Amino acid sequence: RRQEDPAVVRQKQLLKETAAMMHHLLVNTKGGEAALSYLTGRNLSQATIDHFDVGYVPADRSLVKKFLDSRGATYDEERASGLFVEDDQGHLFDRFNDRVMFPLKDAYGDIIGFSGRVLTKEASQAKYLNSPETALFNKRDVLFNLDQAKGTFKENGALLFEGFMDVISAFQAGVLNGIASMGTSLTQDQVGIISRQTKRLTICYDGDAPGQHAADRALALVRDHPQLQVGVVVLPAGQDPDEFIQAHGAEAFGKQLQHTLTPIGFRLNYLAQGRDMSADQEKLAYVNEALKEIAQEPEPVAQSLYLNQVSELTGVPAETLRQQLPVVSAPRP
Ligand code: ATP
Ligand code: MN
Ligand code: MN
Ligand code: MN
Repeated sequence: RRQEDPAVVRQKQLLKETAAMMHHLLVNTKGGEAALSYLTGRNLSQATIDHFDVGYVPADRSLVKKFLDSRGATYDEERASGLFVEDDQGHLFDRFNDRVMFPLKDAYGDIIGFSGRVLTKEASQAKYLNSPETALFNKRDVLFNLDQAKGTFKENGALLFEGFMDVISAFQAGVLNGIASMGTSLTQDQVGIISRQTKRLTICYDGDAPGQHAADRALALVRDHPQLQVGVVVLPAGQDPDEFIQAHGAEAFGKQLQHTLTPIGFRLNYLAQGRDMSADQEKLAYVNEALKEIAQEPEPVAQSLYLNQVSELTGVPAETLRQQLPVVSAPRP
C-alpha cells in the first residue's frame, strides 16, 4: 500500500469521523429511531448495521456542517468532502438529509464517500443519492464491500450484485463474497479490478427485466477477460437477491447460488425472452441468434447441452438444430 498524500489522509479521517457520527445518530439517538426501525423492518440485525457502519442523517441540512466545523475542518476541506451542496454565495449545506447512510469504502476499507437511501419512496426524490465524484470517490472504480469480500475470493470467487442492500442481506445470510457496482451498469474498470483479485465471478443481478438486461451487458464486458470463469444466477419471479432471501431464507439462497448458468446458457434464455415462439418468423430469428451463440462453444458436450436447451425453448429437435449450426471460421483469440 503506497504512502498517501496528507490531504488524502485528512479527508479520509474526516469522512471516517462523519460516518461514526452518523452511525451514532442512527443507533443511539431519538432522532435515529425512525431510520433504525426502517432497517430492522428490512430484517437487518444490529450486528449487520454495525458491520457496515450504517448511519442516519436528519432532515435539517446543517448537522454535518456543524459537525465538521467542530472537528476543525476548513472551508476547502468541507467543499472537497462531497458532503455538501453550495449556494450562489458559496455557503455549504448538507447534501444528504433524512436518509439512511451507507459508507462506501475503497479496497483498503477506508471510507471515500456515501450513498444515502430515503426511508419512504416519494416520486420526487431519488431513492439513492451518492456522493459526487471527488478526489477520493470515483464511482466507476468502486465496488461496495470489496475490502471485506476479497478475503473470501480465494475460496468462493467473487459474487456480483446490483445493489448494496443485496450485498448486506447476503452477508447476513452467511454469504460473504458479495460485492456491488455503484449504480446499475458495471464498468470496464470494475471488471479489471475483479479480474485482478479472482479467477471466478458469479453474476447475480435482480431477476426483473432491467436486472437481466444489466446482467447481459455485464457479460459483454467480462468477455474481454477470458481468464475469468463466469457464472450467472437468475433468481425466479423477478426478485432481487435481498427480496429472495427475505422470502425464502438463507438456505434456499445458497441453493440458488449453486445453480449457475454459463454465459452462453444465460444468453440462450435471455434472447428467448419476450419472443412469441408460436410465430414462425420470431422462432426462426431466435434460432439463428441462438445457433450463433452455440457456435462459439468449442466443447462438444457443452454444445449438446445448449442445443437441448434451445430445443426445449423452440420445440425444434436438437439434431435438426445441430445441422444448421454455423461454421465458425476462426477460433476466438
Ligand atoms: P432497495 O432494496 O433499497 O430498494 P436496491 O438495491 O434493490 O435497493 P435497485 O432499484 O434494484 O435498488 O437498484 C440497484 C442499485 O442501483 C442500487 O443499489 C443503487 O446503487 C443504484 N440506484 C438505484 N436507484 C438509484 C438512484 N435513484 N440513484 C442512484 N443510484 C441508484
Ligand atoms: Mn432493480
Ligand atoms: Mn434491487
Ligand atoms: Mn432491493
